[in-house]
Amino acid sequence: MSGTPEDLAGAVLTIDLVALQDNWRLLKDRAGAAECGAAVKGNAYGLGIAPVSKALWEAGCRSFFVARPKEGEELRSLLPEATIYVLDGLFAGQAEFYAKLNLCPALISIEEAREWAGFGRIYGRKLPCAIHVDTGINRLGLSGTEFDALLADDFTMEGLNVCLLMSHLACADDPPHPLNSRQRDAFAAVRARLPGVPASLANSSGIFLGDGFTHDLVRPGIALYGGNPLPGSPNPMRAVAHLEGTVMQVRNVKVGETVGYSATWEAKRPSRVAVLGAGYKDGVPRALSSKQTDGPAQVFINGKRCPVIGRISMDMMAADITDLMPHSVVRGTRAEILGSNILIDEAAAWAGTISYELLTRLGSRYARLYTGLESDAQA
Ligand SMILES: *Cc1c(COP(=O)(O)O)cnc(C)c1O
Repeated sequence: MSGTPEDLAGAVLTIDLVALQDNWRLLKDRAGAAECGAAVKGNAYGLGIAPVSKALWEAGCRSFFVARPKEGEELRSLLPEATIYVLDGLFAGQAEFYAKLNLCPALISIEEAREWAGFGRIYGRKLPCAIHVDTGINRLGLSGTEFDALLADDFTMEGLNVCLLMSHLACADDPPHPLNSRQRDAFAAVRARLPGVPASLANSSGIFLGDGFTHDLVRPGIALYGGNPLPGSPNPMRAVAHLEGTVMQVRNVKVGETVGYSATWEAKRPSRVAVLGAGYKDGVPRALSSKQTDGPAQVFINGKRCPVIGRISMDMMAADITDLMPHSVVRGTRAEILGSNILIDEAAAWAGTISYELLTRLGSRYARLYTGLESDAQA
């Protein structure tokens, strides 16, 4: 008899789909009258586009944002009736692919608008799209002048079914930043040039900037997955991703002995060390390795935080469990690496990165469990 995937993988990633739905409802509530969509690009920030998007659909979400047309194709097969926006715009020569799958490109240039309108004329109908105007992040989108030029191009505009006018905030996670109000005002000017079209500006943090930012549709991503949309304040979101490493061995380490590659950690007292089956192959950043004697990174074992010690290796990491009750940690005990106690923003900060990168880089070797919904929403 072979064991379950959890028994056989050193690490277990559990994704709580009810927490995900709760997070969507909280954001929808915060967005007031605006519709609440969901950014599910990057395989739903690494958590699995199939179970995540089905759970969000079940909660009532109808508008989804992916980055690439290929992601749109996968999402379309999961949600035949959803509105799907492709944030990276219209890929050259690929209009038919979008049209057949009923994907709405978020057009980022006049060139893309002309291609989409032109294809629509061949296809026999005005195809739905968003127009993405840049208001200050200088990433994707038409500049204000290009937007004016597009509006002046009657032939192109007549060929488009513009469903959404959107822009993206650069500093929403820093509420006092002056760029927030500058972008809000620039977006108001853009909207005034194309009245009657639904508008969308806010990502997760943008929803918390207040009324002037939520418009008709909000596009949260990270907050759905448990990231804190309010850096520096308590996180209102529930943890969705729970990563646990299984203890493979507990060892006693004498004063003066070291743990792990390059001998970066040295025991200053007789110590007990738990070796966990999770390493950088499993998405635990090597940058989480302690640079000082203990931590700053921690794992949560048997109700207590324990410092991560030594280097994170490919398949394992170590924690100092000297302060836990002797024999309370044994082979097979699970330690929380990410979850309700070790929050993704906290762990990301220890590793010098952000929750987005931490989630999207979670590996694929651990057992992946989805909890909280009936099996039809599962992968
Ligand atoms: C990724 C993305 C979002 C979601 O951002 P979060 O910060 O994860 O909420 C919204 N809009 C655009 C254009 C994006 O690229």
